Amino acid sequence: MSDGLFKPTSFKGVFMLEVKDLIKVYKGKNGNDVRAIDGVSLTFAEKGMIFLLGKSGSGKSTLLNLCGGLDFPDSGEIIIKGRSSKDFSQADFDSYRNTFVGFVFQEYNILDEFSVESNIALALELQGRSKDRQAVKDILEKVELTDFAKRKPNTLSGGQKQRVAIARALVKNPEIILADEPTGALDSATGKQVLDTLKKLSEEKLVIVVSHDREFAEQYGDRIIELKDGKVISDVTKEKVAAKQASENVSFIGDDTVAVKDGAALTDEDMSAIKNFLVKKGGKAVVASGAKAVNSYEKVSKIDKDGAQENFRDTQDGDAPKKEYSGEESKLIRSRLPLRHAVKIGVSGLKVKPFRLFFTVLLSVVAFVMFGLLSVLLFFDPIELASDTYAQSGYGYIVINKHYSYISTHYKFGVETYSGESDDGTDFTPADLAEAREKYGAAYGAFTYSTDDG
Ligand code: ADP
Ligand code: MG
Repeated sequence: MSDGLFKPTSFKGVFMLEVKDLIKVYKGKNGNDVRAIDGVSLTFAEKGMIFLLGKSGSGKSTLLNLCGGLDFPDSGEIIIKGRSSKDFSQADFDSYRNTFVGFVFQEYNILDEFSVESNIALALELQGRSKDRQAVKDILEKVELTDFAKRKPNTLSGGQKQRVAIARALVKNPEIILADEPTGALDSATGKQVLDTLKKLSEEKLVIVVSHDREFAEQYGDRIIELKDGKVISDVTKEKVAAKQASENVSFIGDDTVAVKDGAALTDEDMSAIKNFLVKKGGKAVVASGAKAVNSYEKVSKIDKDGAQENFRDTQDGDAPKKEYSGEESKLIRSRLPLRHAVKIGVSGLKVKPFRLFFTVLLSVVAFVMFGLLSVLLFFDPIELASDTYAQSGYGYIVINKHYSYISTHYKFGVETYSGESDDGTDFTPADLAEAREKYGAAYGAFTYSTDDG
């Protein structure tokens, strides 16, 4: 059996990831169709941080799930390094999900009973890889949690927990990371830590982040795709315009900013360079001077540390370059999640939580005993017990009933509608019992009464 799911043919001029004409329709509550994704086509490069922006219900999660093979489109296809999902078997989808894509969700989905490093070690093992210390260390380093290896998740901040979740996603060494509102439950400061981590990873991987926070998207995104009603309404890519150093004191940023070094004494050349720039731009430029002025301008005008200005412009064809992938590269590795490991995670759960196991078993036993007791109490019938015991004991026994007869007459509006004789069981009096003893000479008299005839 080969672990390659496809014949190793190479693909030229293809994208790392492409989605084509995707449509996903859900049945809504009132029976109406909801077109969650309504004809989306996009191409993605091998790396970079892409934001899917849009209001709640715009289809962001659906698109992300379709990209990650967590959900299937009603029509259209996803194409991974040239391989179309139309040719995927179920096993191919499993491989894609399990080895190619790392998922991060708003909920951290990490195991609280395990330390940070154990969470990662376990994930490594589940992936069928050795959980050697170095591998765990390397992964924790990538998310800057080295110092937190021994900590339990409940001692971490939300942002740190989310980074454990990211670390766990990295265990597969995925080429794509899909994060659905990873900062949704975090405050702005811890949210930033998470985005910083994802940003760093996006230098080597394709990272697609679902968010409804435009500010974060603009700050961190290399590209922002905006969705509305399942359609792409805008797709923009960040472009850096380098600062042009005019002299020691003066530089021009983009086409509208003059930056003057803090406290600089401007020379005549500086002044005329500035004047020329302003004239050329028709006076629509800003002169920012002094550290404070530049700092605040950085935010408004998205100027980075190197003085380069970041602008968003429409995403163009060449932004996600086409590539050639060898058969080897576009082969999906069959995921390995042998049963052995599934058992192990169960067993390791027991090892780590002996007390919990003990109490679980104890409580289960108590619960069953209580149930048994309750059912005995509920269904206990002393008469039946006594008669059964006698019946089964082998002693001779007789059953005597004492009945009384009565005539009941029913009237409706003064007119007799029914009259008849009935009888019913009744208690024995002590005199009755004495009479019976005498008559039948019972050595052991057990007298009960029953309304049953018998
Ligand atoms: P977002 O992530 O942007 O908030 P979603 O992709 O979750 O949006 O949902 C897009 C639309 O599809 C919404 O109208 C939502 O109600 C609907 N939808 C999503 N998932 C389902 C589902 N499993 N069943 C029915 N409708 C769904
Ligand atoms: Mg969502």
